[in-house]
Amino acid sequence: MSTVEKYIRSIPDFPEQGIIFRDITTVTQDPEGLQLAIKSMEDKIKDKDFDVIVGLEARGFMFGTPIAFDMKKAFVPIRKKGKLPWKTISESYDLEYGSAEIEIHTDAIKEGQKVVIVDDLIATGGTVKAAINLIERLGGEVVSCLFLTELAGLNGRKALEGYNVESVVVYE
Ligand code: IMP
Repeated sequence: MSTVEKYIRSIPDFPEQGIIFRDITTVTQDPEGLQLAIKSMEDKIKDKDFDVIVGLEARGFMFGTPIAFDMKKAFVPIRKKGKLPWKTISESYDLEYGSAEIEIHTDAIKEGQKVVIVDDLIATGGTVKAAINLIERLGGEVVSCLFLTELAGLNGRKALEGYNVESVVVYE
């Protein structure tokens, strides 16, 4: 068991029957858990050349901002529709039931900037693929997609073929 894994709480039947929810609040609410999580994630991208961390609402902000701060990079949020106050572009993507839409400010990424996307968890990869589309529409280059947790059985890596994917704790 990775040392971070012992801080992740697994909750059966949330948000619905048959789903095991991987809860990372038990990681960040512990000082050692938070240190381990941020340091382990930073370690995965320490040799990458990049300019900006893009964090995905909301748990991607909890990990993305400290990583950007430590590594002296910029931080840019991707938010759910209707939250960003200036000019935005948006992408819709399918969820198991229905769809979702995420947005980014049009001036948040400059042409040619190298980006690492951060979120707490990758499942099907649908959310991060929509984020990649937004970043590429603004002329950014995604050099890595970085997660604390990966649900490998849901094949997110397949949805991100051709992109570098890094995760610290993998559940089969
Ligand atoms: P995907 O788009 O199917 O890859 O789902 C990933 C998104 O759903 C991320 O933004 C996660 O925060 C969220 N998510 C899905 N399952 C879990 C879970 O078990 N724990 C925490 N977040 C989850």
